[in-house]
Amino acid sequence: MATIFSKIIAGEIPSYKVAEDERFFAFLDINPLAKGHTLVVPKREVDYLFDLDDEELAAMQVFAKGVALAIQQAFPCKKVGQAVIGLEVPHAHIHLIPIQRESDMIFSNPKLQLTAEEFQAIAAAIHEQWAKNR
Ligand code: 5GP
Repeated sequence: MATIFSKIIAGEIPSYKVAEDERFFAFLDINPLAKGHTLVVPKREVDYLFDLDDEELAAMQVFAKGVALAIQQAFPCKKVGQAVIGLEVPHAHIHLIPIQRESDMIFSNPKLQLTAEEFQAIAAAIHEQWAKNR
């Protein structure tokens, strides 16, 4: 059965898309720790990030690098933090989170409640930067 992220990639479930190429897809986390919290996933359905073959893992990280740059341009922050957890959704994904301090990366922190319009505006702002940088 397809994962929820495969359904998002296929457009069967809506998402706030940030960036996409032939192999990777980036969209806003629906329970964000910060404005701009983004998930980067491979289109190929693999549960565990470190089961990706070397080439695909390296390419995914390079794709994430471009998304992180766009996040920082759209939402100025000290750094964009990266985390891999993957206990909830069995489809490899990298979290990219704009941070000002270490505690901004704590996943048990309260999540932001954003409206659909806010999510849309955030995704559009990041996408605009990402497209400009290409
Ligand atoms: P993890 O597997 O890394 O522990 O957590 C999965 C992440 O995916 C969580 O941060 C959760 O908010 C996010 N997530 C789960 N389901 C959906 C969904 O349907 N849409 C979006 N945009 N994010 C999701």
